[in-house]
Amino acid sequence: MADHTGIREQRSQPSGAAGKSAAQAKLTFPMKSAPGAHIALPPLPYAEDALAPVVSRETIGYHYGKHHKAYVDKLNQLIEGTPYAEMPLEQIIRDSAKDPSRSALFNNAAQSWNHWFYWLSLNPAGGGKPGGALARRIAQDFGDFESFANALKEAAIGQFGSGWAWVVQDKGKLKVTKTSNADTPIAHGLTPLLALDVWEHAYYVDYRSRRPDYVAAVIERLLDWEFAERNMAA
Ligand code: FE
Repeated sequence: MADHTGIREQRSQPSGAAGKSAAQAKLTFPMKSAPGAHIALPPLPYAEDALAPVVSRETIGYHYGKHHKAYVDKLNQLIEGTPYAEMPLEQIIRDSAKDPSRSALFNNAAQSWNHWFYWLSLNPAGGGKPGGALARRIAQDFGDFESFANALKEAAIGQFGSGWAWVVQDKGKLKVTKTSNADTPIAHGLTPLLALDVWEHAYYVDYRSRRPDYVAAVIERLLDWEFAERNMAA
């Protein structure tokens, strides 16, 4: 499958010695260097109708064009003229997560990051079952793919109210987890591999209140296992 996301260009440069492959480099939010627009809305990595019928053009239009954009716009308002305007997005998230008085900053920063990562987690050519190193890791940590997929479904369906389901690595071990509202694994020292948005705005137009149908369809038809594998620590 072609790497249509352009994600390799978005990676930071490997800092290690020769022999470290690009696949081992860490994925970071693409920052804009132009003054006055520190955090830009990253481009959607496919056409707005590319995920249909699992996720419709109408949903993407609102979700990316209105919701994601609103988080980024609000974040830029909040950081303007502050030391945060000079920080990578991941650092803004980690710093504001420690400070309850910065909850608006944390929420908008984390949602800006989470949605970017969610769009990259989906792929019109995705779904099916992973292979390679990710498949071996799933077998090691979950036994088989069905157990892993069921754990991810349960996390996504069981998240009470707005939030996210995630595939993460925790000290190398593959885990499934969920977060509430804007909360994000990168505020907890975990390495995200895949994100699944379970806020109602992610599925209500297409599935009404049937979150389990949205979750199953995205896992079976859209999740980009190759993206997940590229995010795995060596
Ligand atoms: Fe969302």
